[in-house]
Amino acid sequence: MRLVLLGPPGAGKGTQAGLLAAEFGVPHVSTGDLFRTHVAQGTPLGLEADEYLRAGELVPAELTTALVAERLGAADAARGFLLDGFPRSVVQADALATILAGLGKRLDRVLEFRIDDEIVVRRLLARGRADDTEGVIRHRLRIHHEQTDSLLAYYAGRTAVVDALGEVEDVTRRVLGSLDGLDGLGHLGHLGHLGR
Ligand code: AMP
Repeated sequence: MRLVLLGPPGAGKGTQAGLLAAEFGVPHVSTGDLFRTHVAQGTPLGLEADEYLRAGELVPAELTTALVAERLGAADAARGFLLDGFPRSVVQADALATILAGLGKRLDRVLEFRIDDEIVVRRLLARGRADDTEGVIRHRLRIHHEQTDSLLAYYAGRTAVVDALGEVEDVTRRVLGSLDGLDGLGHLGHLGHLGR
């Protein structure tokens, strides 16, 4: 299962990706989490990425693409992955296509999580991460919207829209509904504990 999860910060992609990763036995690959780990560990990449994370700016392409290439090439991603936070632009989507072609793989589906900006702002302020001040949140949302249309056009025909408003289990049910029938997954009706 190779999925890309698109949607604004605070749409619940990470929560859903975590649940699906546990269920399907494939890693949840979040570029935000990977960067935060590097920052926390003070690696050279972390030192470079830190200022961008603080400002809510995108980390430069070369750093981000190398990080993703390394992560998707790791053994535990051989059977699949749930990619969260990448790609964020058409340039990154092209980079992903190149990475996957190099691995002889292809994406199964793109899920677009849709939710109102004001709900996102309220959710993220409640979460209280270091880069979750209102100004930075609104900046991240602006960047997201600037990039999204072209990214959705890029993935046209491969995207399923998920209404991300509501309780976690409701959203999970919608996500599973959007995956039903995916090659190799068969019918997902047995996943009752995940909200079906
Ligand atoms: P997230 O956890 O997805 O909200 O990401 C947190 C921060 O990590 C973002 O505000 C960016 O600074 C950085 N980041 C995460 N993913 C990417 C990406 N695909 N390209 C560039 N920067 C990213």
